[in-house]
Amino acid sequence: MNEHWEPGDEESAAYQAWAAQEDAYEAWVEREIAAGRLEERVPEEWEIEGPAISLSLGDATDIDPELLAAICGPDGLGGEALGPQFGQDRPADALRPTPVLAALTEQAVSGIARLTDDELFGALHAARRLENRAAYLQSLAVAEFGRRRAGELANATGRGVRPGHRPGEHADLELSGEMLISRGEAGNLLVAADDLTSRLPRTLEAMAAGLIDARRASIIAFYTGSLRPEHAAQADEILAKVAPQVRPETLASRAAALEMKLDPQAVRDRREHAKRTRQRVEVRRELSGNASVAGRELDPAVAMASKANIHGLALRLRRSGLPGTLDALRTLVFNDLLQSRNPLDRASASSGGPGYAADDATIPEDWSPGDIPPPPEAPADDDWEPGEGSADELSDYSDYEDTDQGNPGQPDSVPEPEPTPMPAVINLLVHADTLLGWDTTPSQAAGWGLLDPADTRAMVRAASQHPATRWAVTLLGADGTAVAHGLSAGQHPWEPAQGAAGSHGAQLADLLHRLNVTLQPIARKTCDHASAENRYRPSRKLKNLLRARTATCTAPGCQCQAIFCDQDHTIPYPNGPTCQCNLGPKCRTHHRAKQAPDWKLEQLQPGVFRWTFPSGRTHTTGPTVYA
Ligand SMILES: [Zn+2]
Ligand SMILES: [Zn+2]
Repeated sequence: MNEHWEPGDEESAAYQAWAAQEDAYEAWVEREIAAGRLEERVPEEWEIEGPAISLSLGDATDIDPELLAAICGPDGLGGEALGPQFGQDRPADALRPTPVLAALTEQAVSGIARLTDDELFGALHAARRLENRAAYLQSLAVAEFGRRRAGELANATGRGVRPGHRPGEHADLELSGEMLISRGEAGNLLVAADDLTSRLPRTLEAMAAGLIDARRASIIAFYTGSLRPEHAAQADEILAKVAPQVRPETLASRAAALEMKLDPQAVRDRREHAKRTRQRVEVRRELSGNASVAGRELDPAVAMASKANIHGLALRLRRSGLPGTLDALRTLVFNDLLQSRNPLDRASASSGGPGYAADDATIPEDWSPGDIPPPPEAPADDDWEPGEGSADELSDYSDYEDTDQGNPGQPDSVPEPEPTPMPAVINLLVHADTLLGWDTTPSQAAGWGLLDPADTRAMVRAASQHPATRWAVTLLGADGTAVAHGLSAGQHPWEPAQGAAGSHGAQLADLLHRLNVTLQPIARKTCDHASAENRYRPSRKLKNLLRARTATCTAPGCQCQAIFCDQDHTIPYPNGPTCQCNLGPKCRTHHRAKQAPDWKLEQLQPGVFRWTFPSGRTHTTGPTVYA
């Protein structure tokens, strides 16, 4: 062991906190035993025996010897069961990925059947930190290899050696043969490793500490690859903090949003390049043995309009009585359109078939009818409120069903067609401090995530022509979470003014004025119950407020959009109020899980949820941070 070792502040504080907790617990146990309230526990046989192993710890071991002693017990490793040290927030659960952690994890896993669920997850997380550390080591090796070959190549080029005869020319090919991966993959590894070791120090550091894995690191490297060094440094700082806390998909959309904010032109160039060189129709074999047809690298506005058209036609088929899930009907429409048949011919052919209730089509599209019955205590839908609008008021995107989609079966042959008018809820995200428009702020469109400002304008313009489209405004605070939200009644067709880019702020101000939105505050920290309602089902108004605050299911890592979620009472109604402080979106799956006896959910503050899993581990999630 290195004698000159100095404890890090964090580790030593963590150890002291842990030790204090342990001491207090021991004292309590002794008192309880003395008072006869607790029986002294005799350790089980497996807890005292166990193989003794000895470790040779190199200089890489940056671990507090006292901490190690505490973990291993008075008789060294194996003297005491290791399992409890892997419980949530216990020492081994937070230990850096060093050879010591590797040894402890091996030891704990060797008696895996004895671990509690909580300890099992602790061991899993420890193994992942070690894996991430290994990814860090691989990055160092790949980067060093890449630099050697690049140096040789530069040298040969400098000496005037002809292309094709220069040493170091085929680094990607060499690496691909060494690792038995494709040349493209090897090339990506070389680029990412070079970026990580040269301009993404925070991300690299987090990999070394076991907090960021190879996949997340490559996402960060990809979305910062086109940025200038100072912007890359800025993005590195932000994304390295976000990465360990979110799913890779979320990290990718945050990274893309950041990239768009920092250098929109770089994003546009990449997109244009991909469109020019890789736009295609692809027919592939699925793993199952079936096949897929896809248009790749399409313009997002065109793709969204196609999706809306397919969805609208499928809903019309369903209303005409055609059986099948929406997925099946959309597939039918998709194939009809591709093979120049009119899908609506199926509607006339099937008229007289079994009818569907009009509100069948309001079932969220991502789950099948009959999947789960509504909660038994739910009273009938009394959602409609005078003054809130009539049947065409702002609602789910599933309000599509009342709308007439134009021109099926007539593929547009214009190279860059104007997007078809489509129904949408246009939610303007407005930063309270800047009040800038979509010129600089990446926007979200129907859950599609980031879009180019020009795309957004085209899409908003197209959607605003549709009679079923409604407008909403979400005001964002400095931390990127929603502070207020409001809806606008009626249709507001919108034409972006042509001309100077500088006028977008004024345009937005004008638009907000015309929309005449009354913003409602979103409760934070405490709740004055101003938005509370005296009934079980929250009104659409309250639902929309809640969706603006929490845009996805509140379960950790769940990305199901709130629009497809139930607004669930954290404390069941009527014991818990129908109010911002007691409601939150749950997808059907998590709603069902939450009702299981071994799952627990609390709302600590309005919008702050603590989930306790059957393992006993807890996870806290907060309001949506908009990019
Ligand atoms: Zn409240
Ligand atoms: Zn969920």
